[in-house]
Amino acid sequence: KAKADGKGAFRRFDPALESRVQARRSLEADLRRAIVLQEFELHYQPLVDARSGRITAAEALVRWRHPERGLISPADFIPLAEETGLIGPLGQWVLRTACAQAARWPARIRVAVNLSPVQFRDLRLAETVKAALAASGLAADRLELEITEGVLLADEERTLATLTRLRAAGVGISMDDFGTGYSSLSYLRRFPFDKIKVDQSFVRQLPGDAESATIVRAIITLGTCLGMTITVEGVETAEQFAFTAASGCDQVQGYHVSRPLPVAEFLSFVDAHEAA
Ligand code: C2E
Ligand code: MG
Ligand code: MG
Ligand code: MG
Repeated sequence: KAKADGKGAFRRFDPALESRVQARRSLEADLRRAIVLQEFELHYQPLVDARSGRITAAEALVRWRHPERGLISPADFIPLAEETGLIGPLGQWVLRTACAQAARWPARIRVAVNLSPVQFRDLRLAETVKAALAASGLAADRLELEITEGVLLADEERTLATLTRLRAAGVGISMDDFGTGYSSLSYLRRFPFDKIKVDQSFVRQLPGDAESATIVRAIITLGTCLGMTITVEGVETAEQFAFTAASGCDQVQGYHVSRPLPVAEFLSFVDAHEAA
């Protein structure tokens, strides 16, 4: 047991903190090993066209198949991967795998890949993306990169340069979780995104909540007038689906259509969905 040294709470031995530090260290060691052993897999969640109901894209969502802990969700390891720099190799694996898998899908289905703000600090990001496209043979216009507002907070010049290079390569750029960050509107003026994904938090209260309904409709109008495609995320119920489809958005994504699925199940889902 550490003795109180009178220098304040931060110096005292704290068993709870100590075990959190231990848990984090062991998770970090596991994560390093997992990258070498490729313990990750991508699940795909369909995006459907709001008018035709057809599947036009799928979002790649990474999962970690931990040998003892089972399937771990990205919320539980992406932040650690970002803090430790492991997001670099992990993000590269995600990009390469998503491009390679999507290259075998029907050509009308695009693939969306999430990028961490940390990946944007790497000046080689655009080259990494082009290399993943070249290695897979996937056409650039079938790849969409999803970024959050956090990307635009740091080193704006550099970020805009990277986004511009990605755009020039023919890749689509989507603003994810739109409406949850700061000064979303000024970002729309500074960079012309191809797509806005309306955050799920606005959808939760639909269709009953008048304020949420007004906000969702306003974002759809705004994005559409700026020439952007609008996807509404997190649509869970038939009522939410009916509301969003009627509100003029372009695409719908959420549990109501499908949960994220392992790649083979995703492809079966596409077949069944087309047949229906
Ligand atoms: P996101 O990019 O906003 O992805 C959407 C999240 O919402 C996914 O969670 C998805 O499973 C979930 N979702 C989809 N439809 C519904 C719905 O109807 N209801 C509810 N309640 N949730 C729904 P997931 O897979 O746990 O991913 C969480 C976040 O982790 C993602 O949010 C993204 O920010 C991050 N992430 C996932 N994969 C990657 C990756 O490969 N790289 C990076 N950098 N981040 C990733
Ligand atoms: Mg996303
Ligand atoms: Mg999102
Ligand atoms: Mg999110």
